[in-house]
Amino acid sequence: MYAKVIVDINASALDKVFDYRVPDGMELSEGWRVRIPFGSRTAEGYILSLSENTAVEEDKIRDILEPLEDYPAILPHLLDLAGEICSRFHCTMSVALRLMIPAQMRGGRVRIKTEPAVRCILSPEAMLQYQAGISKRAARKRVLLSFLSDREDHPVRDIRAIVRDPMPLLSELQRDGVIEIYQREISRAPTVYPDRPGDEIVLTAEQEEVLSELLDALAQCASGKQKPAHRCFLLHGVTGSGKTEVYMRLARACLRQGKSVIVLVPEIALTAQMVNWFEGRFGSLAAVLHSRLSAGERYDEWRRIRRGEARVVIGARSAVFAPVEHLGAIIVDEEHEPSFFSESFPQYDARDIALSRARNENAVLVLGSATPSIYSFAMARKGEYILLELPHRVNGRALPSVTIADMRKELALGNRSIFSSVLQDQLNRTFRAGQQAILFLNRRGYSSSVTCRSCGASLKCPHCDVSMAYHKTDGMLHCHYCGTVVPVPARCPNCSSPSIRSVGIGTQKVEEEIHRLFPAVKTLRMDFDTTRTQNAHQEIINAFRARQAQVLIGTQMIAKGLDFPQVSLVGAVLADLSLTMPDYRAAERTFQLLVRVAGRAGRAQVPGSVVIQTYQPDHYAIASSVTQNYRQFFENEFARRRRQLYPPFTVIARFLVEAGDLQTAKDTAGAIEEKTKVFFEEKKYSRRLLFIRSDEAPIAYIENRFRAQVLMKLLNHPDSEQAIAELSEWTFRDEKGTRVCFEVNPASLA
Ligand code: ADP
Ligand code: ZN
Ligand code: ZN
Repeated sequence: MYAKVIVDINASALDKVFDYRVPDGMELSEGWRVRIPFGSRTAEGYILSLSENTAVEEDKIRDILEPLEDYPAILPHLLDLAGEICSRFHCTMSVALRLMIPAQMRGGRVRIKTEPAVRCILSPEAMLQYQAGISKRAARKRVLLSFLSDREDHPVRDIRAIVRDPMPLLSELQRDGVIEIYQREISRAPTVYPDRPGDEIVLTAEQEEVLSELLDALAQCASGKQKPAHRCFLLHGVTGSGKTEVYMRLARACLRQGKSVIVLVPEIALTAQMVNWFEGRFGSLAAVLHSRLSAGERYDEWRRIRRGEARVVIGARSAVFAPVEHLGAIIVDEEHEPSFFSESFPQYDARDIALSRARNENAVLVLGSATPSIYSFAMARKGEYILLELPHRVNGRALPSVTIADMRKELALGNRSIFSSVLQDQLNRTFRAGQQAILFLNRRGYSSSVTCRSCGASLKCPHCDVSMAYHKTDGMLHCHYCGTVVPVPARCPNCSSPSIRSVGIGTQKVEEEIHRLFPAVKTLRMDFDTTRTQNAHQEIINAFRARQAQVLIGTQMIAKGLDFPQVSLVGAVLADLSLTMPDYRAAERTFQLLVRVAGRAGRAQVPGSVVIQTYQPDHYAIASSVTQNYRQFFENEFARRRRQLYPPFTVIARFLVEAGDLQTAKDTAGAIEEKTKVFFEEKKYSRRLLFIRSDEAPIAYIENRFRAQVLMKLLNHPDSEQAIAELSEWTFRDEKGTRVCFEVNPASLA
């Protein structure tokens, strides 16, 4: 017998299959990890397939040394998935396969944890005989034997609770052939909760309807009769519409059919309620994979899943590769979140992988969100996904009332504070009523835009209709999409006001302002600076829940998945911060954030109110968020994308160059730009290339690594896919440390 083996070394020269001989008596099948001789050393490898014959000469072929586990680590359909990833992302097979197992499993950096245990190996009759022969004075021995006569396995740890210092006695019993002492595996898995059905919650009629569609699809999957499109659902449910309850019922139905479920959530939601709900409901059938698990815990959880003991897997994007054997459904909650994109190579989108898995493994896919991504909603409109809706909150709880504060008017009225008079009033009222408030800066990223404080116009690129970013390094405005650079004008091009400046308020500024206006009020701040340590995030949340402060001030990280019953006021301090982000998705992100943040207010008994401060109250992203009107937002944004040729109508791709100095980075980018142009000419694809330009990257250097980019926009067309496939092979890293990577529709252009 011969095995085709992928060697676990990431070098494209080695990205081929090597034949090895399976020694007699070694039971192996596809997906096993094995140790193999490789050159003059040994390496780890994965068996892709077995065959009776080989083209390699008999005296050249070498033997597999040993299996690394006593089971195949990679399930057959995950082996296929790895193959798919290779061809889609042009990575080596070993890189794709690494996604499928915990990192520390490679190179044996994590091991099974064991403890000594004993079990009785005598027959019951022989045991009785043996017990009868013990001297009356050997009391400890008798106690021990009667304990062990239940024939169960007992860890030595438990036996210590029965008799003191049991080891000599146990050794004696082992010598007499009464028991055997062995190493038994113990789990570092952090959670064991009781399983609770949770059927006491009565679904609303809307929830019932959605669930029954999902259950139908699940039933049809089981019968294998379905066309792929009909297993993919987009669940659009307003905040508080009870999506989670629907997910849990679907999961329950999968378990009843002997199947498993994968639930993907944004990393931040893994600190929150969602996980408690699932653990509370499914007990030890649930496995939670989050980034705070130790390597050992992660490995144990992974193996619990692999063995089929945990069948409800909850995790961030990498959980999409969970080694689940009989997949019933994959649920992606908050599907619009950018964190489902992987930032490291291969840059997969967990939603795409989920779709592939659902197709290949005949499972149901549910993408859920209160604010679906433009892409997913467009797919639903095309009929690729089935749209399901939960338009009302459970229990008919009202959506919070939203007020817009027009900051242009505030300035005209002489209010120079960063808080509008409406917000100041509401803060005052909230504090006096003994309730809590959240102030939120929807800022992400690195650079600020320039906005006119009189008319609200933000300075846009003359070629792109995205806001230009102010770069501190050169004091100029840069377009991150086409590279145009212009100086900051002295007066607003729209209304000639001189009150034009870069908007870059931070959380500290907001906190200072609260202290100035409300000296007695205590504040908590949650931002990048205050959450650097491991548990800081949770500690701040706990402190706020315990009412140690009346205001929580933070960036968008406070917008997600948190439930604070005493919060009755939420203020978006400056909605324009995300609206003028130099990103074509700025409007989409702003709408998502504002809807999300409004959902924070008035979750419990206290009715909530929301104040959105903005210089652009008429912008559709802001206007639609006030009424939480997703459709209205979608129509506007979709039309704009079509008009201005942004995804999903086009594909944005870039080469990112990193080098030790700026000139090298720029020169390399320039050379790639030229080469790309020639490539498109030669392939006769030029019509698909709408735009190409090389320039320094938005962040010109990170930790002394200089960055440049080649940015291009392609028409969404099969030619472009082909072109992208070929361009993505141009990535390299040279001995001087210059590195080039290729990104397609990157989650952010930094
Ligand atoms: P979403 O995820 O859609 O924003 P959640 O799943 O967070 O909504 O549900 C909001 C709240 O409503 C939760 O506290 C949940 O326990 C509760 N809930 C969900 N379904 C029902 C129901 N049918 N009856 C009563 N309460 C429900
Ligand atoms: Zn102006
Ligand atoms: Zn531009």
